[in-house]
Amino acid sequence: MNVSVVLFTSDLRLHDHPALRAAAEAREVVPLFVRDRDVMDAGFAVPNRLAFLADCLRDLDAGLRERGGRLVLRSGDVVDEACKVAAETDADEVHMAADVSAYARRREQRLRRALEAEGRRLHVHDSVTTAVAPGAVTPASSDHFAVFTPYFRQWSGQHLRPALTAPRTVRVPDGVGSEELPDRPGAEGLSPGLATGGETNGRKLLARWLRDGIASYEDLHDALAADSTSHLSPHLHFGTLSPVELVHRARQSGGPGAEAFVRQLAWRDFHRQVLAARPSAAGADYRTKHDRWRSERSAREDIAAWKEGRTGYPLIDAAMRQLLHEGWMHNRGRLLTASFLTKTLYVDWRVGARHFLDLLVDGDVANNQLNWQWMAGTGTDSRPNRVLNPVTQAKRYDPDGAYVRRWVPELAELEGRLVHEPWKLQGFDRAAVGDYPDPIVELSDGLARFRQGRAGDSADD
Ligand code: FAD
Repeated sequence: MNVSVVLFTSDLRLHDHPALRAAAEAREVVPLFVRDRDVMDAGFAVPNRLAFLADCLRDLDAGLRERGGRLVLRSGDVVDEACKVAAETDADEVHMAADVSAYARRREQRLRRALEAEGRRLHVHDSVTTAVAPGAVTPASSDHFAVFTPYFRQWSGQHLRPALTAPRTVRVPDGVGSEELPDRPGAEGLSPGLATGGETNGRKLLARWLRDGIASYEDLHDALAADSTSHLSPHLHFGTLSPVELVHRARQSGGPGAEAFVRQLAWRDFHRQVLAARPSAAGADYRTKHDRWRSERSAREDIAAWKEGRTGYPLIDAAMRQLLHEGWMHNRGRLLTASFLTKTLYVDWRVGARHFLDLLVDGDVANNQLNWQWMAGTGTDSRPNRVLNPVTQAKRYDPDGAYVRRWVPELAELEGRLVHEPWKLQGFDRAAVGDYPDPIVELSDGLARFRQGRAGDSADD
């Protein structure tokens, strides 16, 4: 029987997996995951994501075993390992999902060349890691959309392939060697409240979300204390859930909440098509404003206070502490903490993006770097000078202060909105907040002080 290698990357699932499904019907399959030496060495392999990945690989292996197969794990260079496995099993084709980063695209080219040299074929599948493939919709005058609204209009009109069920059986050829699946790394460096990975958990979360959450998404997606977003981002990042399936199932559930949710999934595809067209945006300004950021040395103490959640601005601190504890942060918190670092402390967006990537379980080059750039004013925001005021925003999105009290125990005894302005406390009340710091910067003069005379404008969304 003919053999296919299915190389899993950011698509660690059995459901809605076109390559696996097609191959499993007619052929023997080697479901392969390679612990990529380059990715490990490049600093992307941080404890939170390694732990989630370990869960995903074990769950994928269990799902394959239920169907008569198993996962084959190798470590090293992906191209070398995929070619070795193909040669060992005499596979005539290798399947993988298309991906967008410069690294992923180089990997794909190298793999295609190496396989072709041995007389084998590489099949690359679109719409596995995105709903709509990068480049599937483009404006008349460019290779990608730089503005979300017209992108979304075209994205919404695209026909999506139907979502596929998982294959019933997977036949793996005998004798293919595999390494032991990794365990979660030890507790050091792990966020204590980290979510559990794996397709089984992802599908349970999705079912709960469609049943209980999505209907109120439009109203509650910014309500920090309600924490009423889907929390599906790590599953989308590792591909334990399929974006195509999510769009279909959200549309089936219907209503304004589902529409708002689908719009966010389109934001995910939007950033991917930007990165696919401009891979340099992972590290360089997409649209530079020629900012002269404060040097990391001169801003060292402010950066440390931001990372630790000790800026003296309760909402910023709450969000940064949520990140430390869960390896995840609410989107409104991400926007506010990014605005604070780049627009108030005037620190380079790359410093913040790196810290997020060190901790976020959903840490993702396209979404992280381009959202940071959006907030820093170097990305696709049509109002690049927008500044989010952490106090005004706190009163709007955490009106009775419950989110701050949850994450900043020093302030837990303060009632209502007072929790957002502890510097207004006097005497005995001030002493009650213990060593919670005074603000490290005045909001009114933050920009003026750091922007070296540039005109700073301020808006609040
Ligand atoms: P929901 O609100 O339930 O949204 C559903 C899905 O839509 C998300 O899981 C996500 O895949 C997508 N989505 C939602 N908002 C955005 C957005 N603004 N841009 C792109 N896709 C979106 N998201 C990541 O997945 N990885 C990151 O590394 C990441 N870094 C970010 C950094 C900054 C500074 C900012 C402002 C946002 C970042 N986001 C990132 C986007 C967003 O904050 C998260 O996707 C979202 O908070 C995840 O929670 P959720 O799954 O409950 O989202």
